[in-house]
Amino acid sequence: MAFDYAPAPESRSVVDIAPSYGLFIDGEFTEAADGQVFKSLSPATEEVLSEVARAGAADVDRAVRAARAAFGPWSALPGSERAKYLFRIARIIQERSRELAVLETLDNGKPIKETRDFDLPTVAAHFFYHAGWADKLEHAGFGPRPKPLGVAGQVIPWNFPLMMLAWKIAPALATGNTVVLKPAETTPLSALFFADICRQAGLPKGVVNILPGHGDAGAALVAHPDVDKVAFTGSTAVGKEIARTVAGTRKKVTLELGGKGANIVFDDAPVDQAVEGIVSGIFFNQGQVCCAGSRLLVQESVREEVVDALKRRLSTLRIGDPLDKNTDLGAINSAEQLTRITELAERGEAEGAERWSPACELPSSGYWFPPTLFTGVTQAHMVAREEIFGPVLSVLTFRTPAEAVAKANNTPYGLSAGIWTEKGSRILAVAEKLRAGVVWANTFNKFDPASPFGGYKESGHGREGGRHGLEAYLDV
Ligand code: NAD
Repeated sequence: MAFDYAPAPESRSVVDIAPSYGLFIDGEFTEAADGQVFKSLSPATEEVLSEVARAGAADVDRAVRAARAAFGPWSALPGSERAKYLFRIARIIQERSRELAVLETLDNGKPIKETRDFDLPTVAAHFFYHAGWADKLEHAGFGPRPKPLGVAGQVIPWNFPLMMLAWKIAPALATGNTVVLKPAETTPLSALFFADICRQAGLPKGVVNILPGHGDAGAALVAHPDVDKVAFTGSTAVGKEIARTVAGTRKKVTLELGGKGANIVFDDAPVDQAVEGIVSGIFFNQGQVCCAGSRLLVQESVREEVVDALKRRLSTLRIGDPLDKNTDLGAINSAEQLTRITELAERGEAEGAERWSPACELPSSGYWFPPTLFTGVTQAHMVAREEIFGPVLSVLTFRTPAEAVAKANNTPYGLSAGIWTEKGSRILAVAEKLRAGVVWANTFNKFDPASPFGGYKESGHGREGGRHGLEAYLDV
């Protein structure tokens, strides 16, 4: 049975969302040149949150020109001056974190528990970390005078709107570049609030420009001849298109793309702890995470025990009002994403994998999908190969460590993996052989701004975070 859901009024009132927003170009909010707008919805209720200006090619050009004009003075500032702005931005993010967490939850659909305790602290930490680098670049082994690249064109997805913005903007500014960033069409609002934070921090005009819009604006930004560096996070299909666009140009490029992460559970792992990690690995942000542990590889001898414990744990997950502090699973970000998840799950069933979900009621409006488990899955099944980007876990088994490694690596992707075992030597031996950019041991989904993040194979190109992330914005 479905139930009606209306957001808790007291949390909703924390954030003041204007009925309309402009593009943020050269320090001002402005309409699109052709007057186009689009609506940003709350995926939990389908309520229209705001109407937002939709950038087109003419606006991209205007924003790139503003960023180019700002580049000279910004890059000429001493690093210690740029650091002051970044520290200021980080502190304002902390001060406004309640408002930003509620906003992000409304626009994205993810639980407030996640935006409050994960997204916002991670975003602030990212700005603090990069503020610390801004005056140390000349002493960090990049060579005597590392140079910023120029204007960075950045395109981000909807699953972690503010966090992806922080991963892109903080290193670009710390290294002396200026930015034109396009947020995803379903989650433009937190980037526009960030534009306001840039003004509050007194950031010089044109250093950061924010262009809400659709894929066409992203494509125009990537192709703009005066963009020096392209940074993209999103689907592998669009990433490949971008790689083709920039091939043969002077632009440098980093791509953070899809994944099909494996969580490998050995027979000596403490089952309760592993189950918590498996659950967080795939149901965090409703599984709409590029590094989600969407494949569970469990050693055959403990398969039944682990699957039983997993089903018991899934039966306790609370799905519903994303603004309720106790909610574990919120809404799927968009109707399109819900359709994609639904279709892939149906394919899994049609191919003979066994589908299971706990009994749960879903709200009557908005976009919802229950936590879902597929057992009896083999490598041949679609659900073991395709990135579903939703709350769907496929369970496969293995007998030996070598078989676990072979199965984990049997994917075109290579972003993340997890290993669960009490044997330290096994962790090292297995991690060494996994072709994944990040391998977690006896935990999952841990991030640190000092730690480079990125993919092998079709999961992408280049790293974000840490020293390697800075290098992607410098000529060294
Ligand atoms: P998407 O590729 O459709 O969109 C991402 C962004 O690119 C959006 O802002 C979109 O407007 C823009 N875009 C669309 N077409 C474009 C084009 N031709 N040129 C330039 N920009 C264009 O992906 P999505 O559906 O928004 O996000 C989900 C995907 O992102 C998943 O596959 C996921 O794995 C991946 N992702 C990867 C990471 C990572 O760090 N590796 C992080 C988050 C999401």
